[in-house]
Amino acid sequence: MKTVTTSARLRKAVKAARREGKTIGFVPTMGFLHAGHMSLVERARRENDLVVVSIFVNPTQFGPNEDYHAYPRDEKRDLAMLEQAGVDIAFLPAADEMYPKGFSTYVLQEGTLTGTLCGRSRPGHFRGVTTIVAKLFNLVRPDQAYFGQKDAQQVAVIRQMVKDLNFDVRIVDCPIVREPDGLALSSRNTYLDPDQRRDARVISQALFEARAAIESGQRDAAAVRELVRSRIASVPSVMIDYVEVVDADDLTPLQRLRGRVMIAVAVKIGRPRLIDNIQLTVQ
Ligand code: AMP
Repeated sequence: MKTVTTSARLRKAVKAARREGKTIGFVPTMGFLHAGHMSLVERARRENDLVVVSIFVNPTQFGPNEDYHAYPRDEKRDLAMLEQAGVDIAFLPAADEMYPKGFSTYVLQEGTLTGTLCGRSRPGHFRGVTTIVAKLFNLVRPDQAYFGQKDAQQVAVIRQMVKDLNFDVRIVDCPIVREPDGLALSSRNTYLDPDQRRDARVISQALFEARAAIESGQRDAAAVRELVRSRIASVPSVMIDYVEVVDADDLTPLQRLRGRVMIAVAVKIGRPRLIDNIQLTVQ
């Protein structure tokens, strides 16, 4: 595995592969890797000749009072995991490599996808995401890029950006990887103390109960939302940011459940903010 830290070296490394006609798979991450990230890496490995993974805690997607400086980092362990998974190129740029002095061009997506859910709670977050992903796409020029459904809104926003700005890349979304008790894997789970970790189970439990209710015939979005809300609210340490029942593709709120449906949740447990969702097709 080649580890590169500059854009120039990254470009050079992927250019050589492209000239040989190799297909390029790309997985952008913020590091502190877990089995969720690795499921994306493994899929990229199966489907491409060359696999590039970036590890970059992107400052522009964090708000002023968020956890940019505290975000967990373990470069050595991450690199060992990527090496083990057969990754070809790991890209670990410093912040001033991606945002050198004088940096002033951002990618801003307007419209409904960025104005709801996490976009509403974290102003500026998706501007940071679209900007860094556009930069990384321009550097790597992947044939396919892999994202987790855990960040379903991010996938929708990136798909829209790819369409709007004519990026020549196929976006592949991959299922959420969970702990045995249901909690969605997240680098931020490491912030949870043992009590908070136990309480965090309610997030996925509430979502799974909502799925069971829908499978038993419930079609009223307000009732499903209330079920999830009250289940989570029964655990006092878990503060709800939002619970929404939306169309899984355009993220607009639903009244009756039909087609591709997503139930999306964001909570705070102490300082950490955690998100989760389930997606299902309703006849
Ligand atoms: P992050 O490092 O949190 O920015 O995540 C990098 C990529 O891994 C994103 O596309 C995430 O959606 C994906 N990811 C994070 N957690 C999970 C998970 N539990 N299951 C599947 N994909 C995930």
